[in-house]
Amino acid sequence: MTELATLSAYASTAANSLGRRFNEPPPEHRSEFQRDRDRIVHSAAFRRLEYKTQVFVNHEGDMFRTRLTHSIEVAQIARSVARILGVNEVLAETIALAHDLGHTPFGHAGQDALNQCMRDHGGFEHNLQSLRIVDQLEEKYAEFDGLNLTFETREGILKHCSADNARQLGELGERFLKKQQPGLEAQITNIADEIAYNNHDIDDGLRAGLIDIEQLCEIQLFREQHETVMATYPSLQRRRAIHEIIRRMINRQVSDLIEATRERLAATAPRSRNDILNQPDPLADFSKPMQAMNRELKRFLRNHLYRHYRVHRMTSKARSIIRALFDSFLDDPLLLPPEAQRKAAEPEAETGISGRARAVADYIAGMTDRYAIQEYERIFTPAKLT
Ligand code: MG
Repeated sequence: MTELATLSAYASTAANSLGRRFNEPPPEHRSEFQRDRDRIVHSAAFRRLEYKTQVFVNHEGDMFRTRLTHSIEVAQIARSVARILGVNEVLAETIALAHDLGHTPFGHAGQDALNQCMRDHGGFEHNLQSLRIVDQLEEKYAEFDGLNLTFETREGILKHCSADNARQLGELGERFLKKQQPGLEAQITNIADEIAYNNHDIDDGLRAGLIDIEQLCEIQLFREQHETVMATYPSLQRRRAIHEIIRRMINRQVSDLIEATRERLAATAPRSRNDILNQPDPLADFSKPMQAMNRELKRFLRNHLYRHYRVHRMTSKARSIIRALFDSFLDDPLLLPPEAQRKAAEPEAETGISGRARAVADYIAGMTDRYAIQEYERIFTPAKLT
């Protein structure tokens, strides 16, 4: 119930859903995807997003994005696009709110370090970890482990997957082996994620003084909006001008995504969700010129922000913390708090050291930036014994 009658024939709906892993009675006052969204919002992993970061370490400053505000920005963009394209706005929002649940502390540096630590034990991948959280790790419901979400939400969370991992995931992994696409809601959310982080990284990078406006004028997407804003409001105060430019960049990218996706939908004329899945490429994407401008923007951020020596120092420190915590816990699980010890015992009994390693990775991945730093201090700083 409560799904819009105005949805297109290729939208994901409760009626064409592949359902949940454990059968449950349908919700009384919500749609199935609303129930998924609400379960995510009430999860422990969702709350921890507040103290996890993407580029800047959490304690660097309160003005920067966290993974929580990032996820909300992604949800905002994904909802707008899904709604105007006639697909399921609630599902797009749900996927957006869940898409980063599996991220480690310290952003990509943390993910890379943990993946390195886990290389003899099946690796670590944040997408798979997001799925692991909603499928297994949340301990909230009497009847099942995890959140028992619908197939379509889980499909949207699992953006990438190796063939090896796909084979172990059954139905959910099939599309990677068959080279199929996910539903349009998942495709939209994927691009909304890019739009959100590229633009807010510019904003945060400017605020941190790591990049400047003159440098940014090298890239077309920024330069165009900068020229318009400066011509219209020549004496605008700097912070407001930055916000004006960035909101216009987001709007430009979102509009392009909507128009280009509409054109592809018109050209392929899908009649069902299955028609969307069977396309050789995603239908939700930028136009070719915007793809090129977006690549230019990403290249700029990689060279000038993510590799900036101050960011690099943070990421290097983050790597050392993750590596040191992992090695200590794997070597001596008695260092783990009792709850984490309990969670390590069962997988260790089943698969030995790799089972223990997986439990340690789950524990570390669940940490916030500041908790990881505290744990590091508790274990390695002699003055901190508790
Ligand atoms: Mg993201």
